[in-house]
Amino acid sequence: MSPSDHCIFCKIAAGAIPSCKVYEDDELFAFHDIKPWAPVHFLIIPKVHIPSLAQVGPKHEALLGRMMVLAPQLALAQGCNPYPEGGFRVMANTGAEGGQDVHHLHIHVMGGPRPWLKG
Ligand code: 5GP
Ligand code: ZN
Repeated sequence: MSPSDHCIFCKIAAGAIPSCKVYEDDELFAFHDIKPWAPVHFLIIPKVHIPSLAQVGPKHEALLGRMMVLAPQLALAQGCNPYPEGGFRVMANTGAEGGQDVHHLHIHVMGGPRPWLKG
């Protein structure tokens, strides 16, 4: 059994579980968090199953670079206010002590006017 058979984010990226999609290309998928903390709160994931940031290595440099370059573009498109008065937060929870609940690499992108629910 492959990881994607029991990984909720693999299923979301494959369209097998519905989500509110923000962006998709060959390698990446972005969708709104089901429990948003902030007025704008979406997740960017690679389509390939990587459990967390703890498993990335040199072969993932381009993929991670693409995720980080996509974040500000989608943040503005989703309604975050421009830097520096606006901006956004990027977060990659990693492992149990890092607060990671879903073990498929993802970055949270959060923004919009405060106060936020958390953080
Ligand atoms: P983590 O704590 O692993 O960094 O965060 C996982 C995030 O995924 C949480 O903010 C949670 O609300 C979100 N999430 C979990 N399951 C689903 C789902 O089925 N659909 C969507 N859209 N978000 C989910
Ligand atoms: Zn996965």
